[in-house]
Amino acid sequence: VTIARVALDVPLPQLFDYRLPLLERDPIGCRVVVPFARSTRIGVIVECGAPRTAEERIKPVSRVFWAEPALPADVLELARFASRYYRYPLGPIVIGALPGALRRVRGEAGTRGRWLRLTPAGEGLLSVDVLPARAVARRRVLSHFLEHGAADWSALRALTTSAGRAVAELIRAGWVEQAQPPPRPPLQPPQRAARLPSARALTAAQLEAAGSVTRALGTFTPFLLYGVTGSGKTEVYFHAIDALLASGAQALVLVPEINLTPQLVQRFGARFPGLRVAALHSGLAEGDRLRAWQAAQSGEAEVVIGTRLAVFTPLPRLGLIVVDEEHDASYKQQEGLRYSARDLAVMRAKLRRVPALLGSATPSLESFAQARAGSYRLLTLAARAMTAPPAVRCVDTRGQRLRDGLSVQVMEQIDRRLQRGEQSLVFVNRRGFAPALTCSACGWAAPCPRCTARLVVHLGEQRLRCHYCGHQERIAIRCAACGNQDLAPAGHGTQRIESSLVDAFRSARVLRVDRDSTRRRAAFAGMQERILRSEVDILVGTQMLAKGHDFPRLTLVSVVNTDSALYSADFRATERLYALLTQVGGRAGRGEVPGEVLIQTAFPQHPLFDAVQRLDYPGFASALLEERRAARFPPFAYQALLRAEAHRRETVSAFLDAAAGAAAVGEGVEVFDPVPAPVPRVAGKERGHLLVQSTSRARLQRFLDSWHAALEEIDARHVRWALDVDPLEF
Ligand code: ADP
Ligand code: ZN
Ligand code: ZN
Repeated sequence: VTIARVALDVPLPQLFDYRLPLLERDPIGCRVVVPFARSTRIGVIVECGAPRTAEERIKPVSRVFWAEPALPADVLELARFASRYYRYPLGPIVIGALPGALRRVRGEAGTRGRWLRLTPAGEGLLSVDVLPARAVARRRVLSHFLEHGAADWSALRALTTSAGRAVAELIRAGWVEQAQPPPRPPLQPPQRAARLPSARALTAAQLEAAGSVTRALGTFTPFLLYGVTGSGKTEVYFHAIDALLASGAQALVLVPEINLTPQLVQRFGARFPGLRVAALHSGLAEGDRLRAWQAAQSGEAEVVIGTRLAVFTPLPRLGLIVVDEEHDASYKQQEGLRYSARDLAVMRAKLRRVPALLGSATPSLESFAQARAGSYRLLTLAARAMTAPPAVRCVDTRGQRLRDGLSVQVMEQIDRRLQRGEQSLVFVNRRGFAPALTCSACGWAAPCPRCTARLVVHLGEQRLRCHYCGHQERIAIRCAACGNQDLAPAGHGTQRIESSLVDAFRSARVLRVDRDSTRRRAAFAGMQERILRSEVDILVGTQMLAKGHDFPRLTLVSVVNTDSALYSADFRATERLYALLTQVGGRAGRGEVPGEVLIQTAFPQHPLFDAVQRLDYPGFASALLEERRAARFPPFAYQALLRAEAHRRETVSAFLDAAAGAAAVGEGVEVFDPVPAPVPRVAGKERGHLLVQSTSRARLQRFLDSWHAALEEIDARHVRWALDVDPLEF
């Protein structure tokens, strides 16, 4: 009898043993149903071995999905690595790598069987009109069968919420029956349509970059592709992928934003007609996600484009991993398994011995330092492919009367774009109307009752809202401190800039793009369409608009109130501001007309702006690296942050003090004092943290081995804590 060690989605570090009475093939990576704590769960077999306790006390697995392809070895290996490195239980990582539809026992995994198909009688049906018109669910399900012949449960459930009843009725009518799942498509490269002859002639720099990647196929080689915005990094990806596909391999392309996925999928489609692309991101309906995942796993999809979780996708013929906008903070997951998908992508490339291509106009200092040290190969695209780089100017706001936060120069330039029928973008990094409601007499600002934060004025809904915890209340009419009734919104958010632009340019069509205006599903896609169709003159937007978009008629980008980042306590603030200004500025002038970027600031002499103007990322990054080296900050130190939260401040402090006490000192690891988090209270919870760091990654990891074990021993009944390895946010 074989004992299967099974990964389960439970917050415990160990694997669980079950008896495996029958072996149809190598069981590693197989999905199973197992009994667990009076119910059943989905698991994945990660190891096999001899029993660790008396065999008869070990329960048997309830079911093995022998017919399904197993999770491949490299995905399991990546999960193990992530578990060790980020100090997180293996079970949830492995189960988390499965699409949602495969994580549940009920449904297709249950006793009903996964697959259904038409019976011969069902195949004889000509249309769904055998069913009454009011039988909407049944008609929808039957129509799916008539089109496809067979279906799995998750696809049916994606059609209607009453799929279960509808199917039962179709079975009773004798039209549908349970069936074996169809055989997987063979793992061969599908026939490709002939390549379009119009594939672009690359510039010399693009050719050289693409050539380097192509020559490295089949080996683990990490590349950093540094290319200014508009330099044609995507064309380099395409070229390398083109060479890759010819050999029948698959490419994995990671992107930071859900919003960018459809655009990139389209570009792939235009460049490679007939290409089988699977998109994987959290915005997908469950059935679609399952299908895309299965297409990747079966080898049917040639290119998989996805957000960070896609780094765990099974890809039998993986030949190249691309990480676009590799500097982007959204590659780091901020809860649960706090992994960096960019870093795991490089690790996966290493496990599979394939190249990893990280691209950015503003590489993270971590990657840039790797390139300078020679461990990543640096590829450079120094010029835009087609258009001139945008002209960047600072607008000095000192001594100026701003009109609702906007300078005369910005207003003039917007006006000029309106005359010429071009588009302008005003970038504001705050949503809402104003970031605070303040008292003119005593300086009081309406606070969130549950957080150390001010409430943001949302004038449209006549509410004050907390952007940390979601608390909302009516707009106060008098000061809670002095009773004064003269309360005024302070500062400028997107809504305020929007309304001031609407006032100033009566005939202009102004569109605000932020999380509030794009809450509805697909709202953002609709807005992109309107922008591309020139139905918008002025855009007001947050980060959402900064990344990757290509709006050819957009020729002016204005940036307002980003000064706070220049003198922030966060050591990464200037790196981020540089990236942000470059990204958002890079939206300007991507069409025929050259672009212009105006940055409103009270510190026009700051060296950061100078570097942005000269497009001198390498110079700026080198200077920042010297500062980081002197201050012993990443990438010259490796950090782990112990985060803790509890209802009472004393509980947090006691836990963190105990944690500091449990740290074995010496051996080149620094343990800092526990401190309150930058926002000390969120949603009624006090937060604190404790930073440890070392100049050696290996030494830090060795320290964490013993420290993590010691942390588990501390009485933490009223504390929630987590280790964050390589933290990005403090
Ligand atoms: P990046 O991702 O580096 O910002 P893109 O790959 O989006 O740049 O390319 C910017 C624009 O330049 C796109 O419209 C693209 O089609 C065009 N482009 C890229 N390379 C070339 C080339 N070699 N010849 C002509 N146009 C190009
Ligand atoms: Zn007051
Ligand atoms: Zn709050």
